[in-house]
Amino acid sequence: MHNPFRIRFNDLSRIHEPLKAAYMDRVSEVYSSSTFITGKYVAEFEKHYAGYCNSGFALGTGNGYDALKIAIKSLNLPAGSEIIVPAHTFIATWFAVTNSGYIPIGVDADSNTCNITAQEIRKHISKKTSAIVVVHLYGQACEMDDIIQLADEHKLALIEDNAQSQGATYKGKITGSFGQINATSFYPGKNIGAGGDAGAITTNSEELYKRAKMLRNYGSLQKYEHQIIGENSRMDELQAAFLSLKLEKLNEWNTERQQIAAYYTKSLIGIAELTLPQTAPHATSVFHLYVVRTPKRDLLQKHLAEKGIETIIHYPVPPHLQEAYKESGYKKGDFLITEEISNTCLSLPLFPKMTTDEMDYVISSVKEFFV
Ligand SMILES: *Cc1c(COP(=O)(O)O)cnc(C)c1O
Repeated sequence: MHNPFRIRFNDLSRIHEPLKAAYMDRVSEVYSSSTFITGKYVAEFEKHYAGYCNSGFALGTGNGYDALKIAIKSLNLPAGSEIIVPAHTFIATWFAVTNSGYIPIGVDADSNTCNITAQEIRKHISKKTSAIVVVHLYGQACEMDDIIQLADEHKLALIEDNAQSQGATYKGKITGSFGQINATSFYPGKNIGAGGDAGAITTNSEELYKRAKMLRNYGSLQKYEHQIIGENSRMDELQAAFLSLKLEKLNEWNTERQQIAAYYTKSLIGIAELTLPQTAPHATSVFHLYVVRTPKRDLLQKHLAEKGIETIIHYPVPPHLQEAYKESGYKKGDFLITEEISNTCLSLPLFPKMTTDEMDYVISSVKEFFV
């Protein structure tokens, strides 16, 4: 049988094409102004993104990893202390902790939501713990009430890695507004992506905002006055100009993602060997990814590839089992649920402007595999 479709994992051109003329005008304007870094579009985007995240301040950075590292550094946590991180996450979360001079302490995922929970975090808090980094993975908000209560109880700083979940909520409150200071990524494939690398920090604390702003720009607020040892991770004008245009569409695109996810779930429910994404009570997901799980994952992926359907594994090897952390003392079996997810998860194509025909083709191809 020939393939009626080739279905890409994500097709950004469909949301970018309608914005092309407006963006090109801005490119031309920035080019003529010759102000390329932290100019008017960065200021505008920071203002709008802070508003979107219901936060007092936002700060554009060079990428999401830098945003997280700068957010962590801005807290001035005790040197060498331990920071709680999800075992099941993209490795950037762990690297941001390690490269800020702290020790990442993994916490296993909840098997339903794939996020960390207060119950699991509690088991890993020690006298050396100084902070918790939560990741709202796959687009779904963590269950924040219990996590905030736990952090308060132990006087731990709370940082959100909001790279996959711009627009998600817990009890109606938007992610990126829960922690003392929070980070996000505008990597092109994220729910709101730049035309290259970019990221941002959000916070309600003016003090943390000022420190993060210094850290972003060589430890300086005034040219050639360097108060702390900083980094260089500024946002550039072209990215901000693009992101400002895209921010206006973010809610609409997130709603489309939710509709596609609901369609998948409605159509795929009831297959014995297939676990579908589950959302916690009071949490919403903006479905950065639609991740199914099955013990036959590798065969399903192969079957879908033969049908012309592109899928991705998020993530095949968890950070604690990566060679980079071979000296950490972690070993296979330390985080059983995380390891099970890594072995069974598969992300199906899901992106705004995906057509019903495309969804139906993915659905029938998945069903065909399981009959
Ligand atoms: C994408 C991502 C990051 C890193 O963002 P970059 O902009 O690629 O540096 C961090 N954490 C998570 C969970 C991510 O998905």
